[in-house]
Amino acid sequence: MANPFIEQLKEKPLLFDGAMGTLLMEAGQGSLKTPILLNLDEPELVADIHRQYYDAGADAVITNTFGGSPLKLTADGLEQQMAELNRLAVKLTRQACPEGKFVAGDIGPSGKMMQPLGDIPPEEMQANYFSQARELIASGVDLIIIETMYSLEEALAAVQGVRKAGDIPLLASMTYSKTKNGFFTVMGENISRCVSALEKAGADMLGANCTLNSTDTIDLTRELRAATDRPLLIQPNAGKPVTSKGETYYEQTPAEFAMDAAKIRAAGADMIGGCCGTTPEFIQAVKAELALG
Ligand SMILES: [Zn+2]
Repeated sequence: MANPFIEQLKEKPLLFDGAMGTLLMEAGQGSLKTPILLNLDEPELVADIHRQYYDAGADAVITNTFGGSPLKLTADGLEQQMAELNRLAVKLTRQACPEGKFVAGDIGPSGKMMQPLGDIPPEEMQANYFSQARELIASGVDLIIIETMYSLEEALAAVQGVRKAGDIPLLASMTYSKTKNGFFTVMGENISRCVSALEKAGADMLGANCTLNSTDTIDLTRELRAATDRPLLIQPNAGKPVTSKGETYYEQTPAEFAMDAAKIRAAGADMIGGCCGTTPEFIQAVKAELALG
């Protein structure tokens, strides 16, 4: 069956949203260790942030479920609320979502290491993501995005877990650092290795997010494009956070970020959004720069 998100993607480049954490910080909720709890405690705030991103022009907004896998929640004693928190998050995003736009179910790292470096067996890691994906899919997300993955092995377990949970468009986005020898995950995996393994495991779309600013991400996009024919989502940070006089802000302005976004698009990105430090103003600026109607 044709999926509406995939159909849209064939027509035009799609915009994703920017950071959730940055806006929570502005709302005085930034110090929270478990932002996923806000789905329960401050549902209006979460829905309002989603709404701001749709208003800014985002075609797809990512649910507030980054820390919503059972292993991650266990660290905070919230594992009993896994289903509830994920389902609520999807409901809040869907409430804010205009007709014809999309809800992307978000999956982030577990915070645990797999064997042999850590103590989590591969089956348990896969089951961790299966459980979260099952809730997201049952709640009606249009696609699932696995993001900010710094370990290919864990990203593969996540892709396999989601694939078991259901037939849904699946995007896998790694976070890469720039070194003098090229782009690598912190575990030392390069782009071509990540891309080919993720494709083989069943990721329909690929991506990169976080860590790098928009300028460094232009070359990264070029390398990703050379490594795969599948749709690419690129979500850079707005530079590094700077703290001055007790206030934290990010180095890049919406205008700089948007100019880079045009180059990222030209380098082969099919979807563009923002990671840490980006706000609705950034997404609006990208939309204007790319002349997306
Ligand atoms: Zn980030």
